[in-house]
Amino acid sequence: MPINDDSFKELLQYMEDGVYFVDPDRLITFWNTGAEKITGFTAAEVLGKHCSDNILIHTDKLGNSLCMTGCPLSAALENKCTQNAEIYLHHKEGYRVLVDVKVVPIKDTLGKVIGAVEIFRERSNDAMLFQELKRMAFFDALTEMGNRRHADTDLKARFAEMKRYESPFGVLFIDIDNFKNINDTFGHETGDKVLRMVAKTISKNIRSFDTVSRWGGEEFLVILEKIDKAELISIAEKIHMLVGRSMLLVDNRPIRVTISTGATMAEKGDNSKSLIARADKLMYKSKVDGKDRITSD
Ligand code: GH3
Ligand code: MG
Ligand code: MG
Repeated sequence: MPINDDSFKELLQYMEDGVYFVDPDRLITFWNTGAEKITGFTAAEVLGKHCSDNILIHTDKLGNSLCMTGCPLSAALENKCTQNAEIYLHHKEGYRVLVDVKVVPIKDTLGKVIGAVEIFRERSNDAMLFQELKRMAFFDALTEMGNRRHADTDLKARFAEMKRYESPFGVLFIDIDNFKNINDTFGHETGDKVLRMVAKTISKNIRSFDTVSRWGGEEFLVILEKIDKAELISIAEKIHMLVGRSMLLVDNRPIRVTISTGATMAEKGDNSKSLIARADKLMYKSKVDGKDRITSD
């Protein structure tokens, strides 16, 4: 692949990994945004320089500077083969960051090495901890789906898309019927299992680009994009059928539940609050009309 191909380089900008290219003299010719994020150095600061010019100054586990003893970049350029390494790079703010590095030599059609590409991914524990915290902030551990914060973020994104691309979307507001009875009859722990059962039946049977979040105790919000009203109802009916046919065996006794749903499409002039309020009202009508049903407007 030609390294001066602009669209290829643009594609590399979307990678979270750090990616940079060097020429045979190890001068940096390309530096993506992933590299900027991990190292703190901007492309403008490093292009045309050597990485040993007080930029990354890689060290190994023992603290040896690899600029002196041979870095994976020079090894790839000299041996013409891919190098993998675990190294500590220098961040612009001075601290050391643990990264997994892969260096691949770039050859011309005759096999002559004309440069190398280094790809690096952060391995420092605090990055993982941060990602885990971020994930947990949007995650409901019991049902293993998004929480209300996740639903809010998702709704904002769908409204932005609707505004920009006129891309339609709809929601299903789902509440388990008589769930309190389940807790009262079988205990809270079994209640948890039933909640999980319903959540999984929903999440495993929506389209790959739809999302489901736990809105509250035994309430779920499904957000379905690029959909029309008829399809929204048809997916709601499928979910009803599948939840109705899900059962948890406790002491060989089957526990089943039904759900009540409010189904509505987002309209021009709606916001998250007005859309949820309408879906909740429709769900409530399903309850008043006898539960175990879908109500749409
Ligand atoms: P309705 O058909 O009108 O929706 O009746 P309901 O009993 O489902 O509704 P209600 O709102 O009266 O009760 C919901 C119950 O859900 C009460 C609460 O204890 C239970 N609940 C909420 N969160 C959890 C949870 O995480 N685990 C368990 N086991 N129960 C929960
Ligand atoms: Mg409820
Ligand atoms: Mg309920």
